[in-house]
Amino acid sequence: MRKKRISLIVIPIIFVFLFVLLFITRNTVNKQPRNIILMIGDGMGISQITTGRIYRHPMHMERFNIMGLATTYSKKQFITDSAAGATALSTGYKVENGVIAMSLDGERYPTIAERAKELGKSAGVVATTGITHATPAAFISHVESRNMQDVIAEQIANNTWDVLFGSGWGYFVPQHVEGSLRNDDKNPLEILQQKMQVALTPEEFKNLANIPAAALLHRTNNFPKASDNFEITLEMMTHKALKILSKNNKGFFLMVEGSQIDWGGHENDMIYIRDEMLAFDDAVGVVLDFAEKDKNTLVIITADHETGGMSLLSGDFENHELIGYHFATKGHTATMVPVFSYGPYAERFGGIQDNTDIGKMMLSLWK
Ligand SMILES: [Zn+2]
Repeated sequence: MRKKRISLIVIPIIFVFLFVLLFITRNTVNKQPRNIILMIGDGMGISQITTGRIYRHPMHMERFNIMGLATTYSKKQFITDSAAGATALSTGYKVENGVIAMSLDGERYPTIAERAKELGKSAGVVATTGITHATPAAFISHVESRNMQDVIAEQIANNTWDVLFGSGWGYFVPQHVEGSLRNDDKNPLEILQQKMQVALTPEEFKNLANIPAAALLHRTNNFPKASDNFEITLEMMTHKALKILSKNNKGFFLMVEGSQIDWGGHENDMIYIRDEMLAFDDAVGVVLDFAEKDKNTLVIITADHETGGMSLLSGDFENHELIGYHFATKGHTATMVPVFSYGPYAERFGGIQDNTDIGKMMLSLWK
């Protein structure tokens, strides 16, 4: 009788103990980040971030405690373009300028977005340019030249991505359709519409709710500038993307690009850079709010390269005013770019590294 009473007490205690142990081990041992969010400020160097900081303090980017710097040179070139820069981040490989996620002898390099899909996670891209443009394309396609945007559109349509927000519907419709940017009768848009909701207007975008979803909100790569006050902002697209992707409890990969910081640099236009920087920082705020709440999301913010060789010469931080500045070039430079990280394994992205290290490290976390 006494023995029976003891076992009635001990056995449940053992069960509770085992359960707690299981819970702890399950949550510590394979604490791979469930989600990875990579944000790319195209052309965003330290001077571009400082310009944002002059006009906004505190920036959301000031919420990061871990920082590093990354070299951005490409295969055989001292100064990279966005295709090679984004390929290094998406695959961990160096390629020649203009090449997207493959070698020139035809080897396709697996991207972190493809890895997410292999794991049953969801994956998507958000950009303030065409989704067939170099940076987003480097996560979701493989071509020997970034100019093959019609082929990139076909590859995207023939795959199963979960979020595709940006512009560039001209590359998805056959040549006879007004506004088409294609020279053939292929219709990738039709293929997309068979497998996902596709918004072509701000109104339709607002109604997007379910996974998978696409939005091609302008005919060309020229998504409206932040200063155009277009109805749909990078912040809104990022927010919607997170809402949709987090419906998959296995997790997701998301790439968010602030595409036009680079265009401001190419035009040596400080105001353009400032406005795009602040719009990018708004999206950073949305991502950090999500990650802080989720507690199992790795966030990395970086750039593919700096643009303009920008230097800041006079102004007033207290009164949020940049007066004197200089651009050394209308092109890209080889200056190292910043890397900010938050969440599980964030410390692995601190210090001086190469852009390929960022790609390799993300892929290794989802080995
Ligand atoms: Zn550029």
